[in-house]
Amino acid sequence: MDDTISQTTLRLSTTSTYEKPSVSHSEQSWELATESIVVRIRWFGIAMGYVLVQTRTGLHDPSAVRAFLALGAGYAALDTVFYRLGEVFLKRFPLFVSLMESLFIGLLCYHDTGLDSPFRWYYLLSVLCCAMRYRRELAWITCGFHALSFLVLARTVGANREGLAGVALTLAILVWLTWAASALATILRATGQRLAQLNNALERNAGELERRVAERTAALRASEARSIQQEKMAAFGLLAAGIAHEVGNPLAALSSLIQILQRRNPDEYTSEKLDLAGSQLTRIQRTLRELVDFARPASKAVTRFKPAEVIDEALGIAKYYHRTKDRVITTEFSTDLPPVRAVRDHLTQVVLNLVLNALDATKKGGLVHLSARSEAKSVLIEIADDGPGIKGPDQARLFQPYFTTKAQGTGLGLFVSRQMVEESGGTLTHRSELGQGAIFTIQLPADHGSHLPTSPGLLHQGAGA
Ligand code: ADP
Repeated sequence: MDDTISQTTLRLSTTSTYEKPSVSHSEQSWELATESIVVRIRWFGIAMGYVLVQTRTGLHDPSAVRAFLALGAGYAALDTVFYRLGEVFLKRFPLFVSLMESLFIGLLCYHDTGLDSPFRWYYLLSVLCCAMRYRRELAWITCGFHALSFLVLARTVGANREGLAGVALTLAILVWLTWAASALATILRATGQRLAQLNNALERNAGELERRVAERTAALRASEARSIQQEKMAAFGLLAAGIAHEVGNPLAALSSLIQILQRRNPDEYTSEKLDLAGSQLTRIQRTLRELVDFARPASKAVTRFKPAEVIDEALGIAKYYHRTKDRVITTEFSTDLPPVRAVRDHLTQVVLNLVLNALDATKKGGLVHLSARSEAKSVLIEIADDGPGIKGPDQARLFQPYFTTKAQGTGLGLFVSRQMVEESGGTLTHRSELGQGAIFTIQLPADHGSHLPTSPGLLHQGAGA
């Protein structure tokens, strides 16, 4: 008994993490818990019966009593087997069981010593079992069967005044026990169901809490990743501005010196070399300007612009990346490309990020192809490469913060890029097959407000060389 009850209690207290109890589940637990008590009561009754037969004299028919007890033991054995299998024997026919028990106890008393037989207390045990397992009404019907059985016995054995007083007392106790046992069982059953409901509510709340914690953790990680990326950009901006300042002045001085020398009508050879030096100086100044421009604090303003412009801008920065030298970068823009409305600086960063990733993924001589086209009400910018592609398990983690396969990687590029594109109302997706390269697609809503001229196709080949 104890183990089943404690198992039931345990289930009620641990379901918050492992299983969702339902009311029908708790019903079943209740039935099995009570069945464990019933089985023990039956065996107790049989054992007591044998002791009573062996230790007393004056029984009307001891062998008949033993035979009935053997029958009872068989029934108790069946009950036990079913209980061990997690079932309740004859569960669907409680009244049939009650009727059989009434008959069984009546016959036991008859073959024992009649109305004063101690077996009459078995009526109480039987009604107790019934009240624990079934509804109140069934317990009362069982009480009725037993009362009838005892009255028939009284009539059969022909009770005198004293005997009738004993019968009345037994019946009074039977009624009292039926009431007490079924009232107690009702309270216990209701408490069990309430506990199961509370447990369900607890389970739901715990799930909701876990979901919220996960949500908040993800948001925290996201903002942490964003601020790391911003810090990186700010540090880069500071560095670029510092370099521009330190190098800018001497460069301006060199440029004036070259102009002064050129004004002095130098010979053809010197003039040619001065021109060359001047153009190299201009190139350094342009590079510095581009770096400072790119590294300045990004504007978060949503503006309307041609997608080709940001692609050019991103490629203008990417050309300084050492891997650009020995890769082929091609671009292809469809002529009817509409403008988009987005945070321009963000989009430049995203395209640059994807191009740098593609350059990292490809080998010497590898191809990175950028294209932009319109589709329905969107503009699609694709960055494709002929690198090794992305492994299946990695694909699922690609946009998670801190996922990187590079020795020097931060694993923030794609995560932050996706956020930036989504902030502009677009999406960033990818497709890749192992050995077939990877394609990252930026989809942005087109802004057809008014027509802007579109850029012609450009070709960047070894742009940094
Ligand atoms: P990081 O570049 O710092 O590693 P990213 O978020 O930009 O961070 O990229 C995460 C990972 O995605 C990379 O480490 C790489 O494994 C994978 N990846 C991104 N782009 C490509 C690509 N074009 N081809 C193959 N793998 C890629």
